Amino acid sequence: MQTDDTIAAIATGAGKAGIGIVRVSGPAADQIASALVDRLPPPREARLRWLRDAYGDRLDRALIVRFPGPDSFTGEDVVEFQGHGGPLILEAILAAAVAAGARRAKPGEFTERAFFNDKIDLAQAEAIADLINSQTHAAARAAVRSMSGDFSAAVMALVEQVTRLRMYVEAAIDFPEEEIDSLDDVGLAREIDAVITAFEQLQRKVQAGRVLADGLNVVLLGAPNVGKSSLMNTLTGAATAIVTDIPGTTRDLIREAIDMQGVPLLLTDTAGLREASDVIEQEGIRRSRAALGEADHALVMIAANDPAAVEHANTLLGGLPESVSRTVVINKIDLVTPSDVSRLSSAIAPSSAVIAISATTESGIDALRDQLLRIAGVDHAQQTGSFSARRRHVELLADARAHVDTGIDQLRTQRAGELLAEELRLAQNLLGEITGQFSSDDLLGKIFGEFCIGK
Ligand code: GDP
Repeated sequence: MQTDDTIAAIATGAGKAGIGIVRVSGPAADQIASALVDRLPPPREARLRWLRDAYGDRLDRALIVRFPGPDSFTGEDVVEFQGHGGPLILEAILAAAVAAGARRAKPGEFTERAFFNDKIDLAQAEAIADLINSQTHAAARAAVRSMSGDFSAAVMALVEQVTRLRMYVEAAIDFPEEEIDSLDDVGLAREIDAVITAFEQLQRKVQAGRVLADGLNVVLLGAPNVGKSSLMNTLTGAATAIVTDIPGTTRDLIREAIDMQGVPLLLTDTAGLREASDVIEQEGIRRSRAALGEADHALVMIAANDPAAVEHANTLLGGLPESVSRTVVINKIDLVTPSDVSRLSSAIAPSSAVIAISATTESGIDALRDQLLRIAGVDHAQQTGSFSARRRHVELLADARAHVDTGIDQLRTQRAGELLAEELRLAQNLLGEITGQFSSDDLLGKIFGEFCIGK
């Protein structure tokens, strides 16, 4: 990581606005600022100044604020020019900073410097991006909590639990005369229980946080005319539609993002998984399968008045990958009797949850929404204390947990304390990757590369 150079970028969004900010960070920040203004203001005090280019021509009249390191966002000397928010003006200010010795910043480079200067850890850096990208108020609140370090603190607490267990086990290895007597050792059993409980609690919260940040990805499957688009309309009509047209989706894959009591619900209506002969439909099916690969849950929809409803449901359920959890939605119950509905429900594979609705009369829609919130693992109570998280965190936690489970198993079956100690060490390393204590350059490049320039 090279920090002896000074970077600059437009920190505000593209387009016209009341003001726009050019941010400069690095050892030469003050020197570069001096090239643009005649007098530097005192630290952390805003002053109005004329900004001039290398020829002395006036560029803009702007506020200038200095944040000398280490008390700045990046930990380095930072100067902000708050000028008028026109793209050409801001570009001219940036060009003047570059002419004075700054280099144009890469995406996320300010945040990356904050990370390398220990102003924030990796989970906090990711939370900044999640906050900027958040789609619901609940998601934004969760991201703020992660950004302020709540998530990192929870990970650290877990690392501490794992460390305690490891110390306990290692002490026993070092003094073989006090050999750990596997499960008969009350203290050890208690430490193990504490670690497992701590993992379970954090895994639940992180899963919920991941759903808040990314949205619950639900795929809607069903034969033509069962009422898939009607359900999407009902769900979006009753809630706030965040976007109706997500780029990259096509006619045969309709995707909507809905604010479902704070949980972003990404609902994808697929072309179905029928076998198709013609090329266009095959492409639709390929996309449907791809959508299923990313799905958290599948809603399999049938129409109550369809004589072949059970058969349709079973075909669709049979075609789903094992890993995708599912709910069967019986639609159009307004067209049949209640006893028809219960007959139909009981004829469907008992392993699936069944919810009966009418997209037209909206009966059963609340139950369906509750079911989706349950699957998201984010109820209202959890939202208040939740933090945002990412798939990466969910996976690292699961991998760390797997090492702990393996180690405990080895202790139980082979009385192998040294194997448990080693598995605990591996688990600690994985947990350290969440906060960036251990992290590869590839990972850092990927995380900071997702930021916009100027962040
Ligand atoms: P899709 O092809 O699965 O997207 O189905 P649509 O949403 O286009 O619905 C097909 C037809 O069924 C339309 O005429 C809808 O008005 C009708 N429909 C959808 N849901 C219901 C329902 O719950 N009750 C009744 N009576 N009709 C419905």
